[in-house]
Formats: sequence, structure tokens, C-alpha cells
Amino acid sequence: MMAASLTGMTVPSWASHLENKLAPPPLLLVQAFVDTLDLDLGTDVLAHADEGPAWLAEAGLRVPEEPGAAADLQLARDVRESLRAMIARDAQGSPLTAAELRPLEQVTSRARPRLEVTADGQVGLRTGPVAQGLADGLAGLLLIIRDAQADGSWDRLKLCGNPDCRWAFYDRSHSRRGAWCEMASCGNRLKNRSLRARRAQSAEAAGSAAG
Ligand SMILES: [Zn+2]
Repeated sequence: MMAASLTGMTVPSWASHLENKLAPPPLLLVQAFVDTLDLDLGTDVLAHADEGPAWLAEAGLRVPEEPGAAADLQLARDVRESLRAMIARDAQGSPLTAAELRPLEQVTSRARPRLEVTADGQVGLRTGPVAQGLADGLAGLLLIIRDAQADGSWDRLKLCGNPDCRWAFYDRSHSRRGAWCEMASCGNRLKNRSLRARRAQSAEAAGSAAG
């Protein structure tokens, strides 16, 4: 199922929860995966026994018939927080902790990526077209990140500056200094901003009254 976005770009169903600031594919899949958790609304697709496996299957990360869905959802949620830490790291520069690296090591030790030479002579590293197990699917996300790190697009994937939001968004600005997701659900930031605006206005009013 495909749905048209506001910009006219066709968005896959697994990314339909992203309103704006979408990363270009295939990095879009990493963004959509990280944003399956909406901290501001308190909703988590991967916390649901039905919705979670359905989303992972739609995104091609997991075969629906695969047993062990509960353990897989736990791994997916752990890896999601590791990826969020990886995205945040670009801004903060602090090293990833052992706890943040552990879920990623679970993935890399279980996954079975393979070398592939395409007809045009390009050497690549791929998991299967549809992942056999979740570890393969999540390893596919790591390969997407690796390519994005090589072409520089990874640096444009950021976390919203609202500490209650931390939504992953893609910064297309020329300055690369975008700081906010600008999702409708990013309410606290908007409230804070309007509060700041009101304060500035009243300060200005007080200033002109004094002058
Ligand atoms: Zn936000």
C-alpha cells in the first residue's frame, strides 16, 4: 500500500507515520524504524504483539511466520535505542556505551550478510531481499547506515532537539543546522516556543512603555 505525501513523493506504508523531513531511501527505512517510538505521544508500534510484527514484515525486516515474535520485538526495541544513540552521537561526540553497543553486537553476531558482485561490477554487501530472520533484517539497517556514512547523508539524520521528543528527522537545510522535527505531535517544543514568544513580546512591551 502506498500513500502520497504532501510533497508528492510516494511514501511506503511502513513510513506513513513520518509527516515531514523524510530521509531519502534507503536511509528512510532507518528513520522510520527509529520513529516507531513516539516519545511525545507515548506510542510504540514495536510494543504491540500484533502491530509490531506486522510493521517489521511490511518493512521487509522480518518474515511474519517466524517464531519468537516476543523476543524479536525486544531485540528490535533495544536496537532502536542503539540507533537513536548513534544518531545523537554525531551531535554530542561522546562514545557509545557498552549497553548501547550490546544489542548491535547481538545483531552482527547472528546476521549472515554476504558479498555480492552486480552485473555492473560493483562489489556490495547485502542481506537477502527479504530477511530470513530479524537479525538479518536489522543487519540490513546497519548496511544502509554504513552506505549513508560513506556518502555523507548520515550526518543529516538527526534527533529533534526537544528532549521529550527525540524524533529522528532528515535535515535538508543548506546550513545543516536544523534542530527540530516539526511534527504536529512535538507539542512541548511548540508550547515552549509560544511561551518564549509571549515573554519576548511582553518584554518588548515593557521596554517601549519604559522608553
Ligand atoms: Zn520534535
